[in-house]
Amino acid sequence: MCWLCDAKSPLSAQAVTHDELHAGRWSPRRGFLLAGAASAVGLASGPAQAQVDVGEASALRTLVPAEQLEGAARQQYGQMLEQARSKGALAPDNHPQLQGLRAIARRLIPHAAPWNPRSRDWQWEVNLIGSSQLNAFCMPGGKICFYTGILDKLKLSPDEAAMIMGHEMAHALREHARERLAKTQATSMGLSLGARLLGLGELGNVAADLGTQLLSLKYSRDDETEADLVGLELAARSAYAPPASVSLWRKMMAANGSGGPAFLSTHPSGPNRIQELQENLPKVQRLYEQARG
Ligand SMILES: [Zn+2]
Repeated sequence: MCWLCDAKSPLSAQAVTHDELHAGRWSPRRGFLLAGAASAVGLASGPAQAQVDVGEASALRTLVPAEQLEGAARQQYGQMLEQARSKGALAPDNHPQLQGLRAIARRLIPHAAPWNPRSRDWQWEVNLIGSSQLNAFCMPGGKICFYTGILDKLKLSPDEAAMIMGHEMAHALREHARERLAKTQATSMGLSLGARLLGLGELGNVAADLGTQLLSLKYSRDDETEADLVGLELAARSAYAPPASVSLWRKMMAANGSGGPAFLSTHPSGPNRIQELQENLPKVQRLYEQARG
């Protein structure tokens, strides 16, 4: 999920009509029986209170200035929404699925700052585009977008949609795009990392090119694992049922067998994704119960 694999024409022939967009509704299915006892073990290495263990964010990302990347993302996001609007495929504010997504974001965002203090100043946005693609992403700076395809085809419950949103937000909070771009730049310009770190590179050129590169970005498996776990914790702290992370990825894998959703081409999944999530459920169970009050 996340980045658009078909970046140049994200809507193309797959855009749906305004009426189709309005026909969508949230699946009423909700809730899972929770298994396993709460055993919140503090393995903090992200924010001090974190329950999942994902280590420190990569130092490489600092090679690309965060302000410039967020600015480039804001511009790219705006262009994408404009393109969707011109085709009648941008969900209006009163669209029920969009309202559902924004309600999820309102619960998740208050728990974001410990993972990235800069995010306190982000202008978070959530939009929905009518497209059959199974895709969703969060650009640097908190610009979130879902495609109707991922909601409708996977028949996502609100808990499962929250897991996707948490996963995408985690990519932005942990600055995976920034890290990927820094690595790509270091390689494509034939410069050693040492030279970059010594300030011999041209960061101005790096920034100028960021917007377009954002759209063809592919995350690493490590990024994916991190996003899964940070997203799981964000969702649990927002009172979304942790087991939904497992049911979500089961659906995703099943869909992948029958057509290959866009996000799995940009989000390489390790063989142990579901197992890893399952092993982390007990760590966030208490957060979930506390959040439910
Ligand atoms: Zn991802």
